[in-house]
Amino acid sequence: MKNFDINNIRADFPLLKREVNGKPLVYLDNGATTQKPQVVIDALVNYYTDMNANVHRGVHYLSQISTDAFEVTRQKVQSFINAEHDYEIIITKGTTDSINLVAQCFGQAFIDKDDEIIISAMEHHSNIVPWQMLCDAKGAVLKVIPMNDHGDLDMEAYKALLSAKTKIVSVTYVSNSLGTINPIEEIIALAHSNNTPVLVDAAQAVQHIALDVQKLDADFLVFSGHKMYAPTGVGVLYGKEKWLNAMPPYQGGGDMIKDVTFEKTTYNELPFKFEAGTPNIEAGICLAHAIDYINEIGLDAIQKYEDDLLAYATAEILKIEGVRIIGTANKKSSVLSFIVDGIHPYDIGVILDKLGIAVRTGHHCAQPVMAQFEIPGTVRASLAMYNTKEDIDTFIKGLQRAVTMLK
Ligand code: PMP
Repeated sequence: MKNFDINNIRADFPLLKREVNGKPLVYLDNGATTQKPQVVIDALVNYYTDMNANVHRGVHYLSQISTDAFEVTRQKVQSFINAEHDYEIIITKGTTDSINLVAQCFGQAFIDKDDEIIISAMEHHSNIVPWQMLCDAKGAVLKVIPMNDHGDLDMEAYKALLSAKTKIVSVTYVSNSLGTINPIEEIIALAHSNNTPVLVDAAQAVQHIALDVQKLDADFLVFSGHKMYAPTGVGVLYGKEKWLNAMPPYQGGGDMIKDVTFEKTTYNELPFKFEAGTPNIEAGICLAHAIDYINEIGLDAIQKYEDDLLAYATAEILKIEGVRIIGTANKKSSVLSFIVDGIHPYDIGVILDKLGIAVRTGHHCAQPVMAQFEIPGTVRASLAMYNTKEDIDTFIKGLQRAVTMLK
C-alpha cells in the first residue's frame, strides 16, 4: 500500500480525537459526510487569514491569488477523474445542485412530451425528484430499473426499458442505502448503443473507487466535496463538452455572461456559463487539498483497506441474533445497512449514540428502497479510510448491548 498508515491517517483528523457522551467517538456516518483532515481545515483558515477576495473579477493581488487557488481545484478535479478538458469541470454546490443543473438544462434542450428518462430503484431522492419535476414540466415519463432483494439491478429489465424514447439515463454508481456497486460501465455501454447519454451519481463512489470518466465514457458525473474530506457547499458536475455546449445556462447572474444589454445577453464560455454568482470560494479551494490528501494515500489502497473492513464488519454483525443486512449485492462498498428483528432502527441509533457511536438511522433519502424492503428504515454504518477494526469491535459490542436492552 502506497502511504496507508492507519495511525498517521487517524492523527490527521482532529475531530476523531474527541469524546461524545463521555466515550471516545466512533464515527460511522461517513456516507452522510466525512470528517476533515487538518490540511483541509488549515486551508480553510488560511483562505480567510491570507487571501480572501472575490474570484474572476478583480485585477488586484488578492483577487488574483484567490482566483488562481480556485482554478487549481478545477485542474485537480480534472486529473482526479481524468476528464479530457478542465472546462468540462463545473464547480457547483454539491451533488444535488449538479443533478438539478443537468435535469433543468439538459431537460430544457432535449426533453419533450412523452420522452423517457431512466433512473434506478436505488436512487437517492436527489436523483429522483429533479427528474420528476422535469417530467411534470415537460410531460415526460420516468422509468425505473428494478432491483432484486439483494440490491442488484435487473439488467435484463434495463435493456428492455431502453428505447428510441429514452433521452437520458441517470444512475448511481454506489447506493448510499445498500452499498451496491452498480455495473456502471455496462449501464453506460448499453445506453450508448441506444444513443442515450448517462449521468453517473458518484456521490458515494468518488471517495472509495478511482474514477476515470473517459474510460467509463460517462456523459455527466457528479459528486459532493463534503463526502470526500472537503467542506460542505462545494461539488462537481463533470460533463462532456458536446453536451455542456448544447445546453442552455442554469442560473443567470454574474460570471456566466459575456455581454449584457437590456436588449440581449450573450453567455460566457465553459465552464463559466454554468457558474453564475460568487461560488463557495473557500470550500472550492479546500477541495483541491482534499484531493491531494486522497491522492497521497492512493484510492486503490483506500479501497482495499475499506473492503477488508466492510468484510470484517459484515462477518461480525451476522453473529448477532436477529440481524438482517439490507443490501447483500455481489459488489459492495463501505455501507452496512441493517435491521434487527422486532426493534426500531431509531432506538438502536439512540443507544449507540449514548455509547459515542455515530450511525445513521432512517430512510437515508431513499424511501423507495425502504418501500421495496417493506421496512421503515435501517441502521447504517458507513465507513471511511480512517475507521479501524477497533471501531467495528466497539460498534458491534454496542449493538449487542442495544439489542439485549431492547428485546
Ligand atoms: N446521491 C447519493 C448517492 C448520495 O448519497 C447523496 C448524499 N447522501 C446525494 C446524492 C446528495 O448529496 P448532497 O446532499 O451532498 O447534495
